[in-house]
Amino acid sequence: MLTARNVTKNYSNLPILKGVDITVSKGEIVTIVGSSGAGKSTLLHILGTLDQPSSGEILLNDVNLTELKGNRLADFRNRHIGFIFQFHHLLPEFTAIENVCIPGYIAGVNKNTVREKAVFLLETLGLKDRLDHKPGALSGGEQQRVAVARALINSPDVVMADEPTGNLDSRNARELHNLFFELREKLNQTFIIVTHNEELAPLSDRQLVMKDGKII
Ligand code: ADP
Ligand code: ADP
Repeated sequence: MLTARNVTKNYSNLPILKGVDITVSKGEIVTIVGSSGAGKSTLLHILGTLDQPSSGEILLNDVNLTELKGNRLADFRNRHIGFIFQFHHLLPEFTAIENVCIPGYIAGVNKNTVREKAVFLLETLGLKDRLDHKPGALSGGEQQRVAVARALINSPDVVMADEPTGNLDSRNARELHNLFFELREKLNQTFIIVTHNEELAPLSDRQLVMKDGKII
């Protein structure tokens, strides 16, 4: 489903990614580990079209991501790729369900359809009683689960998660990681997860180890 071929990235002529090849199948949960500075975030950002590679190509279901530009790129990203970061980045003035719905509205999907999907996702994530809470009234674990629902609202082909459990205590981290598997069961959702969590990283279909700009 997602294929990266010989992806490189240089920052000011300094090689950061030195030829990365990855193939991820639909419904797979892949973790990426490696020491700080190995290039994990850079790779995830490039796979998610947030950054351009210096060379190489990335195909998502036969669409060449490196050829997308401007509004077409932004629209494609909103519809096909979900993101979860270490910090939830929820909009504080909006309720949980509003935060989840926003990418659906931006994609131009019918409002009732978006809202129904948002309710389903928030219920699946154990937030049935939190739909109308603003982020400030939610716990850290709950906020991050709202961010997961937001990442899924447009049924993305793949979710890119950069240290999704990095700001959670170990119990909430385990719970969130387990939810990725539950979402895979229910939705056949694909996840690529960069993590430093040594307990959770092996709990995946495949664990990729990055070192010095390469997958080893
Ligand atoms: P990791 O996620 O494995 O910790 P990163 O992908 O964040 O690694 O960074 C890999 C290397 O690239 C680091 O040396 C970092 O300082 C460098 N780097 C990342 N982003 C930039 C940038 N925008 N400009 C210059 N150097 C960068
Ligand atoms: P984290 O600790 O969350 O992995 P990063 O080191 O990846 O944070 O950096 C956060 C942001 O700063 C990223 O957007 C990355 O591209 C940018 N960045 C990282 N290192 C550098 C650098 N040496 N020069 C410029 N930007 C950088």
